[in-house]
Amino acid sequence: MKIFLSSDMEGTAGIVDWEQCVGDGPQADAGRRLLLDEVNAAIEGAMAGGATEIVVNDSHYQMRNLPPGGIAGQASYISGSHKPLYMMQGLDPTFDAVLFVSYHGSVGGPAGLSHTYNPRAVVEARINGTVTGEAGINALVAAHHGVPVVLVTGDRCACEETAALIPGVHAAVVKEHVSRLAARNLHPSRACELIRETAQKAVSGAAAAGPPPFATPVTMDISVRNTDIAEAASWVRGVERAGPRELRIEGHDLLSVYRSFASAILLTRSIAETI
Ligand SMILES: [Zn+2]
Repeated sequence: MKIFLSSDMEGTAGIVDWEQCVGDGPQADAGRRLLLDEVNAAIEGAMAGGATEIVVNDSHYQMRNLPPGGIAGQASYISGSHKPLYMMQGLDPTFDAVLFVSYHGSVGGPAGLSHTYNPRAVVEARINGTVTGEAGINALVAAHHGVPVVLVTGDRCACEETAALIPGVHAAVVKEHVSRLAARNLHPSRACELIRETAQKAVSGAAAAGPPPFATPVTMDISVRNTDIAEAASWVRGVERAGPRELRIEGHDLLSVYRSFASAILLTRSIAETI
């Protein structure tokens, strides 16, 4: 049984500030150790639930946050920059289930470190009218390949937003937000226990789960921060300008919808940095 695990970082218990998850300072090092423990807890739970092969796709920042030899389950590790399918690189129809670990709430939500892909570009994203974070967007790729998304771990906002688009997904809430930069975190060892238990349940039930149920044609609406970002994003194939700061991507091919979105994020990165 083959499992695809996409790991972000802001949804880790104990991480509440960018300094703990961006850059190379001592706080980021400590944050990466907390993340590794949560990823490993999910892998151990998945294996207890019947997984025999794990692929971890590092989806955060420079996408090389984990020590390859420290990852449990002798998992393969997809890491590094410029991955064409970004947070979902490596998924294909041979997988039996997808796990999202250490995910965070969408940009408009109150939860810690909330954002949707690029916090300087995206103000809100909606799929078929429902506000979504990264889990919902990434689930387009899982749906395209017919693979169920069975687990999300992270803050409450991330878990609730994921369940809104993927009914029945198992969720391990490891922290409750207090503000965007404060949370009440489970103790790391308790967070790992919860992730392990929930991953086991999720993976042992994966054979009965269906892929994310998106009605097609899927419509993705994206509000961006300014008109320059919207203009450049509209140069991407599949991205329509729906208003001064509004973009729309529509289609039956869910992978194309995701590709158009990911390309727009990449293309507008340098503009988004300009205040
Ligand atoms: Zn993220």
